[in-house]
Amino acid sequence: MQGAFMAGGNAIRGTRVGAGPMGEAERGEAAPRRRIPFWCANGHDTRVAFASDADVPELWDCPRCGLPAGQDQENPPPAPRTEPYKTHLAYVRERRSDADGDALLEEALTRLRGRRGA
Ligand SMILES: [Zn+2]
Repeated sequence: MQGAFMAGGNAIRGTRVGAGPMGEAERGEAAPRRRIPFWCANGHDTRVAFASDADVPELWDCPRCGLPAGQDQENPPPAPRTEPYKTHLAYVRERRSDADGDALLEEALTRLRGRRGA
């Protein structure tokens, strides 16, 4: 009896929650959308739908090439040339931490050897 009740409840709930065309229409009215065009340096235009009360970001990643896209078609954001620099910096940092690690290791080993020798 309990099982039958639960099954019936699930069936009714399922039909109510199931996304119907009416539900979608109501949702669309509640949150009107605007389409904001973004242009990337490669000339791709991307239109992104935002809720009318949503904050529109200045930049949007172009889904086609991954470059940052801006809302000014005449002046799209430049391709990120900082990337190689960042990579280089990361490389330098990596090297430096490696060197530090080696130095620390060397120091520890020297101390160990010193204690053992003494
Ligand atoms: Zn693009």
